Amino acid sequence: MSVSGSHVVITGGGSGVGAEMARVFAAEGAKVTILGRSYAPLKEVADETGALPLAADVTQRASLDAALGQAREVNGPVAIAIANAGAAPSAPFRKVTAEAFSASLAVNLEGVFHLWQACHEEMAAAGWGRLIAIASTAGLKGYPYVSPYCASKHGVIGLTRALAQELGRTGITVNAICPGFIDTPLLSKSIEAITAKTGKSEDEARAQLYAGNPQKRFVETGEVAGTALWLCSKAAASVSGHALSLSGGEI
Ligand code: NAP
Repeated sequence: MSVSGSHVVITGGGSGVGAEMARVFAAEGAKVTILGRSYAPLKEVADETGALPLAADVTQRASLDAALGQAREVNGPVAIAIANAGAAPSAPFRKVTAEAFSASLAVNLEGVFHLWQACHEEMAAAGWGRLIAIASTAGLKGYPYVSPYCASKHGVIGLTRALAQELGRTGITVNAICPGFIDTPLLSKSIEAITAKTGKSEDEARAQLYAGNPQKRFVETGEVAGTALWLCSKAAASVSGHALSLSGGEI
């Protein structure tokens, strides 16, 4: 199946990986809806791609449901739901507050739950659908100073595996894409934190982050978007329940 004419919803579509997925899916003729809390960056991506921009907070089910309702009115039933919104604040474990831990789970894990649960029934009714999460290599291995992020991304992979079992006969596939470090606004915050806390230069901080990648580079947003597109292709119809590592062999 081509994605042309299919309605794809992308959370966190105003920047980084989400914005690139909006470009790639729109170029393939999909009807793209992008969601995020801030409207201005969504509008910029929408002006460039023709996507429908809607403000919504994925941690708030009512906010998400309202946006999805508007999106369906414009673009029809959702066929592809890409849970991409996320945040990765860093702190040593002893300084992680209960509130910060919950906030991480809320956006990185519960946000995936809310989007997928809100969309899977219309996919099952159509006999075809794609539930995709942008997880992380932090869902497959541990990293220091991002314990809530790692815990939430490991949770996304558990959810993916469970739903692939449960939804196997519906025509829906469920997969998590697990990139290593990607050069996006989210990464810039990590680089700022490293330079501030260690006195390293920006170049040194960048090199420290991709040191674990055998290719010694950051993953590109286009590589993530291309993988999501492939998961929607006929060739990937039996790919379900996977945590696809895009990390140059890091894991
Ligand atoms: P980014 O540019 O910071 O994008 C994150 C997006 O999520 C933003 O557009 C943000 O928009 C949105 N968002 C955050 N909280 C939200 C909420 N509660 N409701 C709705 N939208 C929300 O970072 P990115 O690197 O592209 O991240 C995209 C995904 O890739 C994340 O899940 C991240 O964990 C994953 N990832 C990133 C890397 C990396 O190194 N960059 C590596 C592996 C995986 P608003 O702030 O306007 O809401």
